Amino acid sequence: MVTYRSGSHVRSATDLVERECEHCDWAAVADGYPALVEQYQQHLRADHPRA
Ligand SMILES: [Zn+2]
Repeated sequence: MVTYRSGSHVRSATDLVERECEHCDWAAVADGYPALVEQYQQHLRADHPRA
């Protein structure tokens, strides 16, 4: 089970959401959590397959 402790918040002014990687300096911005989570999961699989 994955828990998102930190690094996630909503920018209400722009409806953009930002996600920072817990393991490196990677970060992404998207216009919705589903897209953002997908980007983050792809990053994890690519850069932290054992994380
Ligand atoms: Zn990372």
